[in-house]
Amino acid sequence: MVDYFQMETLLKDEERFFRDRVRKFVDEECMPLIATHFDSGTFPMELIPRLGEMGLFGLHVGGYDCTQASHTIYGLVCQELGRCDSGLRAMFSIQNSLVMYPLYAFGSEEQKIRWLPKMARGEVVGCFGLSEPDFGSNPSGMKTRAVKEGNHYLLNGTKMWITNGSIAHVALVWAKMDDEIRGFLVEASTPGFQATLIQRKFSYRTSPTSLLIFKDCSIPEENLLPGTKGLKSVLSCLNDARYGVACSALGSSITCYEVAERFARKREVFEKPIASYQLVQEKLVRMVLEITKAQVLTYHLGRLMDEDKARPPQISMVKLNNVREAMKIARMARDILGAQGILADHHIIRHLCDLEAMSTLEGTESIHTLIIGQDLTGISAFY
Ligand SMILES: Cc1cc2nc3c(=O)[nH]c(=O)nc-3n(C[C@H](O)[C@H](O)[C@H](O)COP(=O)(O)OP(=O)(O)OC[C@H]3O[C@@H](n4cnc5c(N)ncnc54)[C@H](O)[C@@H]3O)c2cc1C
Repeated sequence: MVDYFQMETLLKDEERFFRDRVRKFVDEECMPLIATHFDSGTFPMELIPRLGEMGLFGLHVGGYDCTQASHTIYGLVCQELGRCDSGLRAMFSIQNSLVMYPLYAFGSEEQKIRWLPKMARGEVVGCFGLSEPDFGSNPSGMKTRAVKEGNHYLLNGTKMWITNGSIAHVALVWAKMDDEIRGFLVEASTPGFQATLIQRKFSYRTSPTSLLIFKDCSIPEENLLPGTKGLKSVLSCLNDARYGVACSALGSSITCYEVAERFARKREVFEKPIASYQLVQEKLVRMVLEITKAQVLTYHLGRLMDEDKARPPQISMVKLNNVREAMKIARMARDILGAQGILADHHIIRHLCDLEAMSTLEGTESIHTLIIGQDLTGISAFY
């Protein structure tokens, strides 16, 4: 696997152990079936209990039958799953960073006992409902509302682009109550709750991206996450999810480079392998240069996160860099394969399509640029 600066030597034994187990799982169980699912726009549901069996759900949770692990390990898992498919990685990330972590950080003891062990085994899938049709980059403007009525809350609103939405048993939904954003657990069977798969998507095809509608949805009072208080609770979950996207994009880059390099050595045009032409070599060098820079940044960010020293603008920088460069790498790789580059079986076109969504989700490239710009200058250019 491409590792031009021997980053491998910096990993601890436990990190290598996790990474290698997931790498084997991805190569043997995920890669062979993913192109078919991408083609049909379906999620390989059989992989969810396998992720649970491997102890990959609940990496940020101590106790409750979860295997707590470092951010670096979480990042390596995202990279390996992302090598295969961003939809698969997204399922894993949402469950870990955006459902189990907030439950652990903001939930009551009863909520943790009820949900976390089942989620760890992959028996219960969750989703994270923040974005709305009119509020994506600016979630603070959300229209979804909760009103206290006796011993329950009445929820009304719409959430859009929700990963795992239509396969989730429970949704963590962010809504305003008395003008403050709070998190609510909404069970899929709740009357008034409807999750619909968004169709005709050309990116994240394996991922069940959904529209969630809440119409006078009655939520028992014990389903409010008591520790959630305003947008800062939401943002604290997003840091880790953004790091996950950065690692996943690095995985996409690695696959695209490796497929292109193998192809360039074998494919003969004008009676010579195309790898022998300077223009093709230049593309391969540019790819490895950017992969290497991304590996160094990503590794260092993981270490900062493990020491609780990472600042959100640093996470923005790595997310922005890794996705932007992965898009360029995927395009170069697609070009090297010629016409074959558009076939799902060669993987590159899948990654290229998925990277389009990755540049938007967990904060668009522009939003991360504004976050870094504000950090550098002390001046907000958001409004
Ligand atoms: C496949 C997929 C999965 C997703 N999964 C989830 C999920 O599980 N849960 C969830 O809650 N959300 C999810 N999202 C939603 C995602 O977080 C939003 O799409 C994202 O935050 C951007 O919001 P938007 O699409 O409404 O774009 P908008 O906010 O409408 O932005 C449109 C354009 O305007 C630009 N823009 C916005 N503000 C500024 C500014 N101040 N200055 C300059 N440019 C600006 C943006 O960069 C962008 O280019 C998902 C999205 C996708 C595509």
